[in-house]
Amino acid sequence: MKKLALLISFAAMMIFSGCASTTQGGAVGIDRSQFITVSEAEMDQSAALAYRQITAQANAKHVLNTDKKLTDRVRGISKRLIAQVGAFRKDALKWNWQVNVINDPTINAWCMPGGRIVVYTGIIEKLKLTDAELAAILGHEMSHALREHSRERASTEQMKDVGIAVASSAAGLGDLGSAALNMAAQYTFTLPFSRTHETEADLMGVELMA
Ligand SMILES: [Zn+2]
Repeated sequence: MKKLALLISFAAMMIFSGCASTTQGGAVGIDRSQFITVSEAEMDQSAALAYRQITAQANAKHVLNTDKKLTDRVRGISKRLIAQVGAFRKDALKWNWQVNVINDPTINAWCMPGGRIVVYTGIIEKLKLTDAELAAILGHEMSHALREHSRERASTEQMKDVGIAVASSAAGLGDLGSAALNMAAQYTFTLPFSRTHETEADLMGVELMA
């Protein structure tokens, strides 16, 4: 009975979840259909909470937007990029985009779902980024959010868990079978997906920047 219930839930997931695209192609023509089961609201709620925590922590440590000139520069470049997001999805023009700079040597920048951006001073200062280079990085990170790669990734993980349970149950395998299949699934889904996402973000980012 357990096997049947799993099979039904797996089938229902395949039927009711959309194989659609979160964005329009733009000039770069990204039209890969995406398998998404996690809801937009669920992902947005989780991103909002995480972003609030990270910025509040930075604020408490007095490392949030401490250099006004640098913060203005990052926000200015972001604003020009945000004005172009309609090329991929009109609704994102109305997102509550937030851009913050954290004074930290980390060489990184990211954009959480819903347009929540953080740039670490490390990436700007250590790499001595020009405005154009900063725009390339921001465009890339923003594209991950526009394309909802996190939600897609979370959905894939969800599907994988159900798929593994179904497969190992059908094969009569116990926990050992699940572990082995989990590794296979990791290489089948996780890694190739990652590269696909990076390539999409590169292409879309270049278009936003242009
Ligand atoms: Zn990336």
